[in-house]
Amino acid sequence: MRVLYVSTEVFPALKTGGLADVNAALPRALRDAGADVRLLLPAFPALVCAAQGARSAVRMDSPFGGASTRVLLAQLAGVPAYLIDAEEFYARPGNPYVDAAGREWPDNHLRFALLGWVAARFADGSIDGWRPDIVHAHDWHAGLAPAYLAARGGERPASVFTVHNLGYQGEFAAEKFADLALPRDFFSMHGLEFHGKVNFMKAGLHYADRITTVSPGYAREIQTPEFGCGMDGLLRSRAGAVTGILNGVDGAIWNPATDANLALRYDWKNPEGKARCKASLRSALGLADASGPVFGVVSRLTSQKGLDLVLGILPELVACGAQLAMLGAGEPELESAFQAAQARYPGAVSVRLGYDEILAHQLIAGSDVLLVPSRFEPCGLTQMYALAYGSLPLVRRVGGLADTVRDASTENVAADIATGFVFTEASIAGLHGALLRAVALWSDQGQWARVRRAAMQQNFGWESAARLYLELYRELRPLA
Ligand code: ADP
Repeated sequence: MRVLYVSTEVFPALKTGGLADVNAALPRALRDAGADVRLLLPAFPALVCAAQGARSAVRMDSPFGGASTRVLLAQLAGVPAYLIDAEEFYARPGNPYVDAAGREWPDNHLRFALLGWVAARFADGSIDGWRPDIVHAHDWHAGLAPAYLAARGGERPASVFTVHNLGYQGEFAAEKFADLALPRDFFSMHGLEFHGKVNFMKAGLHYADRITTVSPGYAREIQTPEFGCGMDGLLRSRAGAVTGILNGVDGAIWNPATDANLALRYDWKNPEGKARCKASLRSALGLADASGPVFGVVSRLTSQKGLDLVLGILPELVACGAQLAMLGAGEPELESAFQAAQARYPGAVSVRLGYDEILAHQLIAGSDVLLVPSRFEPCGLTQMYALAYGSLPLVRRVGGLADTVRDASTENVAADIATGFVFTEASIAGLHGALLRAVALWSDQGQWARVRRAAMQQNFGWESAARLYLELYRELRPLA
């Protein structure tokens, strides 16, 4: 089974969010399961730096202008990767999607059209003589790949489009359509047009043979107006083609028994090291030594993540003798609100703004509870990392959070199946209720240890996701 895996970022070379973690782990898991998976990515400088043994596979002229484009073949994180070397589009430092001021690059429609267009060029084997059975495109950046494949017609690889977050759709003004080198009739309601604009996400959803998303819960939710971001009608009309496959945890990176970033390693049989990690986190972040629990946050700061609700419960959290350790970056208003909270509660609230991979590990290991009160959450990785590290996730009952965390209700605790705290209503009152339940459980350390043990024994390895994706590929190409 030959699979071209089309995306934009890969941990550790280039990461803006969970997508990079997925792109590092899933292709490897698929290769371990026997598939010939190769990545296709823009040659962003950070990826070029990380690539090994690059050689030119082919040179071509694209319809998007600029000098001729080279496709390089290299190894990235142990997986063969084709890198699209088009300097005028990709040789820009920093974030792959926005400039230093956080503005979308004005030629993003061309930059990501090229990604989809090159993906479709693999169909005839003219790149490196390698012809995929499946083109698997990820999120809006790769959303045109299924459209270019559909435009080719005839015999072609099957296409799979995975939605990692429906909230980012890649929308562009209608006039940009003329730049995309697609048949005129593709700009229609039954194509990639959405409310008069070009929409790359819709292209993926409309033209792909199969659609997947990153948890069963989110697969159901996006078919409703509340979570569908305007695409629910289209998704309902394609319900038979939509599947939810839960993301996994890369145990080589996120495992407290082997994690070199920790003050002391530990596992569920010997969890004592966690106390050292907590003490070391407190001292690193300037939190007072106290007997209460540490609530952690590692997150992008966007309204999706519901962290305004955390600000709303801070007085109560501090009043219960608990502390907040937070690492995040994003919307300036949220950043300054958390900074103000730190100033208001010295020793009880500590906030680190920015992106810090090592601190992320230390924070998840050193906290007792990890807060993920998202308004929507396609899968969420941090709550799964938290489970592995025995930091009980406190999550909202949405998407992948609901699929991965079992509430510490009295019955679940008694049955040894509780792994965290789950609340339903996206409100300060809803989150406050869960906070009180967490604090109540903390006061019974025997019960707490029981729930923590169950949490740490959860297995969210990538093998089962890889198996499900392979089954889906085989449904599309039974003979491959
Ligand atoms: P999303 O992809 O929506 O940001 P996920 O939970 O799926 O959310 O993945 C987030 C990933 O980004 C995790 O690996 C998490 O540890 C990491 N992360 C988020 N914010 C930061 C930060 N400020 N510093 C370091 N890592 C972060």
